Amino acid sequence: KLSERLKLVASYLPKGANFADIGSDHAYLPCYVCSKDPTAMAIAGEVNEGPYLSAKKTVTLYQFDEVIDVRLGDGLAVINPGEVGQVVISGMGGTLIRQILDDGKEKLVHTDRIITQPNVDEKSVREWFVKHGYIINHEEIIEENGHIYEVIIADKNKDGITYHLTMEELLFGPLLRKKKPKEFVEKWSLERDKRIHVLQQLKRAKEQQAEKVEYFEKELKMIEEVLT
Ligand code: SAM
Repeated sequence: KLSERLKLVASYLPKGANFADIGSDHAYLPCYVCSKDPTAMAIAGEVNEGPYLSAKKTVTLYQFDEVIDVRLGDGLAVINPGEVGQVVISGMGGTLIRQILDDGKEKLVHTDRIITQPNVDEKSVREWFVKHGYIINHEEIIEENGHIYEVIIADKNKDGITYHLTMEELLFGPLLRKKKPKEFVEKWSLERDKRIHVLQQLKRAKEQQAEKVEYFEKELKMIEEVLT
């Protein structure tokens, strides 16, 4: 059974999708999509041998060898320029997702939709989208097994209009920030508490530092006095 998180990711693929799932691990997502939609085709990319072999196993088990091509390689290196209409990059950090998109941007000539699910650092992904002419048209946030996940869906801006996101929009998401679903409030309440804790620790360290400086100044003064 596919996780609700990956089902949500899959729901943003169009019917008859021709997509790449980068970092596919067991290839559960492409197998699910192809089982629901007999017109879909996929490339499952994996950089690591173990997950690559797992992906091959799942694809063969479900008899999708004809429609899902499992390829070993780093990020978008596994696809040819213009080969896929949609790209999914899910279940890794936002910085890595941005890196993968940036390293392989010349492969995305016919990629109209990019679906990402960064585990952390969503801001990096939004920054890349803004900079490279993809408009964030959908944002989702769900909770599963005690984790909160964001899904960011961006479509190629064919009009070539440039746009800008504020620092707040980059951090919270331009759409999530407006909608504020309960998972969003939960996530940012936790993040607020983390910041409060870090700030308390930093303040304590600063006070201790100040006490040390004061003590050394006092000692220095005494030493200078004894020497004169
Ligand atoms: N996409 C699946 C999901 O969302 O459940 C699997 C996520 S799994 C935590 C991350 C996978 O990405 C791992 O199998 C890892 O080997 C793969 N990976 C990490 N860096 C990669 C890269 N540069 N190119 C391709 N795959 C990568």
